[in-house]
Amino acid sequence: MKTSAPAKIEPSAPSSDSLGWVSPAVREKLARLGLVTPQDLVLHLPMRYEDETRLYSLRDAPADRPVQVEGVVTESKIQPRPRRMLLCTMLVNGESLVMRFFNFYPSQLKQLSPGTRVRAMGEVRRGFFGAEMAHPRFQVVHPGDSLPEGLTPVYPTTAGLSQRALRSVIERALERVDLQPTVPAEASEALDLPPLAQSVRTLHAPDPSMATASLEGRTHPAWRRIKFEELLAQQLSVRKHRLRRQRARAHPLSAHENLCARLLAALPFSLTAAQIRTWAEIRQDLASVHPMQRLLQGDVGSGKTIVAALAALQAIESGAQVAVMAPTEILAEQHYVKFQGWLGALGIGVEWLAGAQGKARRREALAKVASGEAQIAVGTHALFQSEVQFARLGLCIVDEQHRFGVQQRLALRRKGTEEEIEHEPHQLMMSATPIPRTLAMSFYADLDVSVIDELPPGRTPVITKLLADTRREEVEQRIRDACLQGGQAYWVCPLIEESEALQLKTAIETFEHIRAAFPEMRVGLVHGRLKSDDKAAVMASFKQGDIQVLVATTVIEVGVDVPNASIMVIEHAERMGLAQLHQLRGRVGRGTRASACILLYQPPLGQLARERLRVIYEHTDGFEIAREDLRIRGPGELLGARQSGMPMLRFADLNADTDLLEAARDTAARMLQNHPDMAEAHLQRWLGGRQDYLRV
Ligand code: ADP
Ligand code: MG
Repeated sequence: MKTSAPAKIEPSAPSSDSLGWVSPAVREKLARLGLVTPQDLVLHLPMRYEDETRLYSLRDAPADRPVQVEGVVTESKIQPRPRRMLLCTMLVNGESLVMRFFNFYPSQLKQLSPGTRVRAMGEVRRGFFGAEMAHPRFQVVHPGDSLPEGLTPVYPTTAGLSQRALRSVIERALERVDLQPTVPAEASEALDLPPLAQSVRTLHAPDPSMATASLEGRTHPAWRRIKFEELLAQQLSVRKHRLRRQRARAHPLSAHENLCARLLAALPFSLTAAQIRTWAEIRQDLASVHPMQRLLQGDVGSGKTIVAALAALQAIESGAQVAVMAPTEILAEQHYVKFQGWLGALGIGVEWLAGAQGKARRREALAKVASGEAQIAVGTHALFQSEVQFARLGLCIVDEQHRFGVQQRLALRRKGTEEEIEHEPHQLMMSATPIPRTLAMSFYADLDVSVIDELPPGRTPVITKLLADTRREEVEQRIRDACLQGGQAYWVCPLIEESEALQLKTAIETFEHIRAAFPEMRVGLVHGRLKSDDKAAVMASFKQGDIQVLVATTVIEVGVDVPNASIMVIEHAERMGLAQLHQLRGRVGRGTRASACILLYQPPLGQLARERLRVIYEHTDGFEIAREDLRIRGPGELLGARQSGMPMLRFADLNADTDLLEAARDTAARMLQNHPDMAEAHLQRWLGGRQDYLRV
């Protein structure tokens, strides 16, 4: 409740929505965890529990999980080498245990002086010198101290904030916070969920009699309550965004279709049924007075670009400008060439804007975009920069949208609104990464989706082979044979995440090696460090067939289109993600030649790598692959969460909690209709200041 501001603010006045009662030092650490209100603290739930209700003897301690032991310190010292650490030896039921602390405060040496009785929690390891614990949690035991009766929660925390300190502020927050329900009673009753207040209390301080499995496995009704609440907040947020967009204004870009008809007539192919259908969906959206926000999704090679070009033409014919953005320079350049070829022929001005272009050329491009003389600007994220001003931006086309961060997309959308606040550009996003159903229902629920679900005719299936890299020579021979018969090949060098320099070195070495081994073959090299013009030149000669083998780093991954290339070799395939492998494989099989994708791997394979390679070997359908990816990795990574800034689900698991997700979706719709105030309170509780991010 707001009251008139007092003349002087008490620095630590207790308040229901601040942490004034917490010391500034602790508050600063809590803020690092995103915890700024008592509500946040109450919803900061344990990631697991430890059993401190019993003491183990060293002999009975299981090896694979933390246990609690109690003993008396016999010696404590700081060992300076090889690595500075605090070593503390204690006797536990007559057997000695060494505790090692790598990060410690000098005061801890004093705390652990001989004769002190200590309780320690950690994993017991049997080393050369007997039983050991590495950096255990410990506490000094005073006479009369009893063991706790319930399980001890373990929270996600940050450096310098102990579990005990965190537990204590959470306990105090629980006393202060008002946990009035923000979910309609019918919804929780239908799912048979306990009240929120009871649920958080249970999860922070489980009753000793409670089954650990349902707590740890997060299947306990209290957990289901929390997951439902979280999913509900997400659904409310997405739905609100959708409603806002439905009210926002855009310039209607209705079709005259003269230009589109001329482009279609000039194409060497006719559109597939799926292209015609998706194009119709987009055409209709563009004609609306509300901004389109549509995802055009289609497997690699399904022909999304021509559909985007048709959308661009319609916008241009209605007098608007179009921005076409791609995540890499190679891909953007390729779009530029395609749009130039298709639309330039119709007298349309196409401009190129990239990070690494000459100053004079860039200035000229900027001027043409600002005056409206250029009707289309194609480029990388350089299109976002504030110096890029459009005269009348009406449509943004974003290729491979999942590779852009949320902030970047927001920035581009704002471009169209600088002068005319009330009009937003239409947005067409493209992606080859299909959205599994659960994600479509959650994170992408604010988008309309058009799916190109067939490939153009005449494609040849790609055969996938898995070979240990001891067989590279065989592979090289095979490439030589294919090239002698007029074919072309990609040779993709391993992804080396830790070092771009190392990745470059490997690519250059591979290039030299192949060139030396097969002097009769024409070999090219392309990597991220090349200047744009050089990159474009290499790509152009590969496209023309002047280069037969293109050695490349993963810059080649997205969008590159050379139909005559029929072999894709991927080195160290075990290091790559599924989406990346699928994208790379999609570079071949685009023409009439029998195509192959050869995955070289270095044994031994870890379990995850083995599973990924199995999936890519067994599946060719992008949808199946994305589903498996979601299963293996979870949704966070699939969405590129770290770069997008989108708050991820902390508790709910989209695969396991589909029933809750569906219920949350229905409840959100009804709440916004019937209980808008409750919906606001719920959003405030769960998302607080982070709501903005979800509105993208
Ligand atoms: P993606 O969906 O992966 O972006 P592209 O738009 O690059 O695919 O199209 C892949 C290739 O298929 C291009 O060479 C394109 O010209 C060609 N193509 C697109 N549509 C058709 C069609 N209907 N028939 C034949 N070829 C097509
Ligand atoms: Mg593409």
